[in-house]
Amino acid sequence: MKRLQQLKWVLLLFFAILTIQSCQKDDVLIDQNPVTDTSGTDDTNNSDGDNTDNGSDTNGDNTDGNNDENPGDNSGNEEGEGEGEITLYTVEGSNIVKKTDYKVSGSDLEFQKDTNKHNEVWELVKKIVPASYLSKMSEFMIFSGENSGTAGYVFPTSNDLSKWQMGIAIDFAYQGGFNAGGELAYTIIHEFGHILTLDIDQVDASISQSNCNNYFTGEGCAKTDSYINKLQTRYWADIWSEYETAQDSEEKLEQFYQKHRDRYVTAYASTNPGEDIAEVFATFVTRKGGPNGNSIAEQKIQLMYNHPELITFRDFIRGNMSSSKGRSYLPIAGSWKKAKIIGNPKKGCTHRKKGN
Ligand SMILES: [Zn+2]
Repeated sequence: MKRLQQLKWVLLLFFAILTIQSCQKDDVLIDQNPVTDTSGTDDTNNSDGDNTDNGSDTNGDNTDGNNDENPGDNSGNEEGEGEGEITLYTVEGSNIVKKTDYKVSGSDLEFQKDTNKHNEVWELVKKIVPASYLSKMSEFMIFSGENSGTAGYVFPTSNDLSKWQMGIAIDFAYQGGFNAGGELAYTIIHEFGHILTLDIDQVDASISQSNCNNYFTGEGCAKTDSYINKLQTRYWADIWSEYETAQDSEEKLEQFYQKHRDRYVTAYASTNPGEDIAEVFATFVTRKGGPNGNSIAEQKIQLMYNHPELITFRDFIRGNMSSSKGRSYLPIAGSWKKAKIIGNPKKGCTHRKKGN
């Protein structure tokens, strides 16, 4: 059953890609099948071996693992939801405390046992997400991205958007070595960008779509002065109906992007305003210089620079990411693999899980 669905998907994608390739020929790569695109094929971008000398196992992997408030949750061997869950942590202060090991086998089991890797990823999260936002992360999930093609995700764990879970695909995090090419760092920055732009400070979850006079994010109604509302009203509203029509097919999404590519920092940014602002934020953080020209994409970067608190986050991340040897753990802006995926958020990062 599931097999069949997967097969259907693969076929669908295959034809979509054929169609797209027949009418386009430029540097916008479509990452094909979620399973193949991300697994094992990226030895191209980790040439400078910029991994790990951060030698950080300082954060005491914590032991108790037995703090479930909820009695139905027998930490130990829970069935996941079939989305690759490996180990769920609760975030306590700046530490992660194991809550649940899901029932896994094979390479996922190896990743589950290797808690040093979980901690190594968490140490990188702490270098990227400042304390004021770390406190909004109630849960941290280590999962396997192989099946979904998802490198990371966030979703709210409270209805008012004050608390969030971040998930990081451990297999992708170590593909080609830890944080090879800065891909993992980019993923975390992108996911942090979602929390930053969709949380309770920015979005009012108590206002329904029909009562929302601003951009409705899916999670709630964006506040008037929120980053995402500014982005959507200034740079999306005029092409909104075109964007909605383009949702019909991969081909139309590709055409939409090609037509408006001067508006987007990456192809993936054209998915929706939520992905756009996460990509703009990630580009703003990872790119060395400031805005470069006056295209709409660059105006979006300038929008980030117009907010001093965002510059503070940028400085925080960049400061933490350069090693004593002057090497950076950041990728080159726009080089993120997911940045080349157009359109379908299921293939990239998701900030809402199914049914949420
Ligand atoms: Zn995203």
